[in-house]
Amino acid sequence: MLNAILRTSPWLENTLTSLYFKAKSISTNNFGTPHRISAIITQPNMKVQILPALQDNYMYLIIDEATQEAAIVDPVDPEGVVAAVQQNNVNLTKVLTTHHHWDHAGGNAKLCQKFNNLQVYGGDVRIKALTHTVKHNDCFNIGELKVQCLATPCHTTGHICYYITGDQDPPAVFTGDTLFAGGCGRFFEGTAEQMYQALIKILGSLPNETKVYCGHEYTESNLRFGQYIEPENEAIRHKIESVRMQREKYCPTVPSTIQDEKLTNPFMRVHEQSVMDHTKQKDPIQTMAFLRQEKDNFKA
Ligand SMILES: [Zn+2]
Repeated sequence: MLNAILRTSPWLENTLTSLYFKAKSISTNNFGTPHRISAIITQPNMKVQILPALQDNYMYLIIDEATQEAAIVDPVDPEGVVAAVQQNNVNLTKVLTTHHHWDHAGGNAKLCQKFNNLQVYGGDVRIKALTHTVKHNDCFNIGELKVQCLATPCHTTGHICYYITGDQDPPAVFTGDTLFAGGCGRFFEGTAEQMYQALIKILGSLPNETKVYCGHEYTESNLRFGQYIEPENEAIRHKIESVRMQREKYCPTVPSTIQDEKLTNPFMRVHEQSVMDHTKQKDPIQTMAFLRQEKDNFKA
């Protein structure tokens, strides 16, 4: 019912979403830890600076080392982006928006006032300051890095993941609120079948070494849910230990990898007997639906 009302009123949806995330951003986070520590992942072609924002969001500054051209993923905190661009002394030309929610696209318009001729990419007309509407398999470049758009509707109908490759690097995928380390986004505007397509068919077919940069720091609570689903899963047991150590130092737990997600993320393991046994479902899509409902009500 609420979804039906929201679908008929984009203004109401935007306002409610904005209020929800503003309220969320001033509350304390799940673990009582500050979400402040930045980190840089350096590869021969691509440098990624992880920029924490709000309570548990991540923005990502992607730098092409060959040309020093840069793009920013989901710049909800424009001041933080300006500081990172100046610090790295790079030429910011593009905004990659994963989806229209306020805590991802809410900084686009302000950022466009701070930089001339910014190109704003996204797959949904509800995205603020959008200049380039993209669809599945559209490609463009950040300097010499190649970007491929992957349409993954479900969390929102226009959600896009960005798959980025350089000649010598392991690939990277920026997954917004579709795939999280150890979990996935809520099915606000889609179905279990769509999330199955996104996680298993599209993201699951990327190379195993692909680095996964997701939209939120939810890893520890996601893994606790994974452990509840599969108490015997050794990969989850190991990962939860290392994630706890990282979070004690307030460090980001991203990036993950596609391989890691296939081993530890119940939503990418809906074909596994252990996961299907837990849900008492025989079909992987029904298993996906059951898991999402269970996670929505899970108290870690
Ligand atoms: Zn979202």
